[in-house]
Amino acid sequence: MKTLYSKFLILTLLIMVTSTLIGFLFSNTYYHQKVKPENDQKNTEIALNMAEYAESQNSLKEYLEHTASTGYQLYVINQSGYEEFYGGDFRDRQLSDSIKQQVLAGDIYHGMENFPNETFVTGFFANELGNTIGVPFEYDSENYALFMRPDIELLFSEIHIMLGWMVIVMLILSVIAVLISAKFLIKPIKQLSNATGKVADEGFDVEIDINRNDEIGELGTRFNHMIKRLGELDHMRKSFISNVSHDIQSPLLNIKGYARLLEDESLTKEERTAHINIIREETDRLSKLARQLLVLTSLDQKNSFIKTEPVPVSQQLKEIVQKYRWMLEDKDLSLNYKLPEAHVSGDASMLYAAWENLFTNAVKYTPPGGRIDITLEEKQNEVTILFKDTGIGMTEEDQLHIFERFYRADQARTRATEGTGLGLSIVKQVIELHNGEIQVSSAPGKGTTFSLTLKKM
Ligand code: ADP
Repeated sequence: MKTLYSKFLILTLLIMVTSTLIGFLFSNTYYHQKVKPENDQKNTEIALNMAEYAESQNSLKEYLEHTASTGYQLYVINQSGYEEFYGGDFRDRQLSDSIKQQVLAGDIYHGMENFPNETFVTGFFANELGNTIGVPFEYDSENYALFMRPDIELLFSEIHIMLGWMVIVMLILSVIAVLISAKFLIKPIKQLSNATGKVADEGFDVEIDINRNDEIGELGTRFNHMIKRLGELDHMRKSFISNVSHDIQSPLLNIKGYARLLEDESLTKEERTAHINIIREETDRLSKLARQLLVLTSLDQKNSFIKTEPVPVSQQLKEIVQKYRWMLEDKDLSLNYKLPEAHVSGDASMLYAAWENLFTNAVKYTPPGGRIDITLEEKQNEVTILFKDTGIGMTEEDQLHIFERFYRADQARTRATEGTGLGLSIVKQVIELHNGEIQVSSAPGKGTTFSLTLKKM
């Protein structure tokens, strides 16, 4: 596998090498176009000066030795066969006779300018006799030729060596820096990949520690957030399943138990009816649970796509009151309502289910003799509906949880009121799908008020 680390490394080194090459090509073109001819011209001037001075010297040899010592490589010949090198030696002493003859005859030799191109910038450093300037001069009535080039060994003064070292050190340092920064970049990605592996193997109890202020740091924070959320969802899913199984299991056990009791032939008619009633109640409970679960699943799938028809809220509420009037009478509860005409926008059957849940809860959790108030208030753009009862109420702790699936306050359980703990979670989900709000205020023993606000049609 090609790791990100090696890719990064190869890429950076590739960039370094290509940019060096491009830089070299550029400076090379610059050298050939501009530096080389200029260099030739400059050295020609120097050579001509040398030649002029040479002509007026007493001792030519001394003069040439002295000039060479100031940083030049010289080659001097004359027509009668004299030939001498001064200063640093040439690596390559080849020079054609015809050139020598031309200079002796008075021409100037531009070896620097015409030095072959193939050698790049390095041509400048080529220590060859061909890479010189040749000028003629006269001494003691004899024709001489002087070939010269600056001594590159002397040119490479300390400053050049220092610069050379600088380049080498920079190169080494940048390679080390690339290695370290690559490690630094790759490390959190490795951490992330290890963490995802851990999540797959061991579950959601994973947290990574990437303390950085950049995109990778943000990725780390989001990863942690995602894992936390997934953990919560996983926990919810598990407890949902265990709740559902429990809520199915207990009515089934009851049904089974009472069915067996019914087999006893010595039962009185009353006993038999009582057992059958329990079986019927438990079946009702099961079918209600199944219905509510179906509603919840369909709400989960709806997300934000719901109908936007005008829903006559007051009319719906009155229908529900009518439908459950027998319950009120059964428990001797008084009901007051103030329901002016009002419409909200939404899904009529969903909202109907919400009112039904809130109303039956008020009836269920209010002891006989209590009172229920249903009020509808219209504001500019909103409709607020209140369900108020004088029932058993709830603690603050319960109020925090009643909208969770399967949550039932202890009081609700011990009083053996039937219920699934799903009603209010359905209500909340319906109201949220309608972009509305639901609030509860309650005090144990005093009563409860649910307040819902929805957008007016
Ligand atoms: P349930 O099927 O138990 O009624 P809900 O989701 O409708 O389930 O309600 C959740 C819990 O909230 C109930 O078990 C009860 O403890 C509490 N609750 C709901 N409505 C009222 C109310 N009007 N008065 C007191 N407690 C209530």
